Amino acid sequence: MVHGRGHKIARFSWKITRPDSFNHSTLLSALYNIARDKNNTIAQVLSSSPPNISFRRDLVGARLMSWHNLLSRLDRINLTQGRDVFRWNLTTSGSFTVDSMYRALMHSEAPESNNKKIWKAKIPLKVKIFMWYLCRGVVLTKDNLARRNWPGSKKCCFCTHNETIKHLFFQCKFARSTWSVIQIASNLYPPTSVANIFGHWLDGISNRFKTLIRVGAYALLWSLWLCRNALVFNDKNASPLQVIFRCTHSLRMWSILQRAEYQPLFKAVCTRLEQVAMKFFTQHGWQHNLRIGPPTVST
Ligand SMILES: [Zn+2]
Repeated sequence: MVHGRGHKIARFSWKITRPDSFNHSTLLSALYNIARDKNNTIAQVLSSSPPNISFRRDLVGARLMSWHNLLSRLDRINLTQGRDVFRWNLTTSGSFTVDSMYRALMHSEAPESNNKKIWKAKIPLKVKIFMWYLCRGVVLTKDNLARRNWPGSKKCCFCTHNETIKHLFFQCKFARSTWSVIQIASNLYPPTSVANIFGHWLDGISNRFKTLIRVGAYALLWSLWLCRNALVFNDKNASPLQVIFRCTHSLRMWSILQRAEYQPLFKAVCTRLEQVAMKFFTQHGWQHNLRIGPPTVST
């Protein structure tokens, strides 16, 4: 698109959909929804530096990333004096040809995004949505609530640190205890963040098993979230042992969503996790065993 001076921001790429980026279009739409004046023209937006757009909410987390993304797109715009004109960027003439589109499609190497991995996972839709929120950093942990002017305490319900996504799911001693069970049962080193789960966490493992192990990680994250909510909202105390049993309960239910050949494996993994968890927590008690030892627990 060649942008003329009368071009409205409402039409500027907010809802553009690229085949490799579902997230992209959604985030820009989210920005558009909180823009104060949706009828400004691109010329008005670019009339000042920084660009003349204001929002009704603070730009933090995913919205802030989206804003930077938008700024880089605005930076590439050269306004012309005339009307908006569609121009095909894959040919020098600016005219569409099937040949140029075919070559672009054949040579595009769009990496598989974390979103795709989540949406393709064989898990319930509500857990996919939760994982998607986790990836975008917008799950309503207390730090995210505080950014929305929530007046409550920011403290983690399991310890004295402030609750953030990284703390609650990976760094808190409560979460670390549950990941320790996974480590002892499987020799997998615990992931350090949501990004790590989709990044280098499972380097060296075949893609087929990576997908299955991630389902286990989703189940554990989901269980941690449910136990945290039970404590925060219903004052129901939970132990890491309960998190593991909630996790295996989910995995047994989700096993029917997997390919038939993997279902026995899921059930065997659940049994192994429960055995390790029982031994781990009954021997040591979760408060006292936060160090991860060698995988010495036998089946
Ligand atoms: Zn904590």
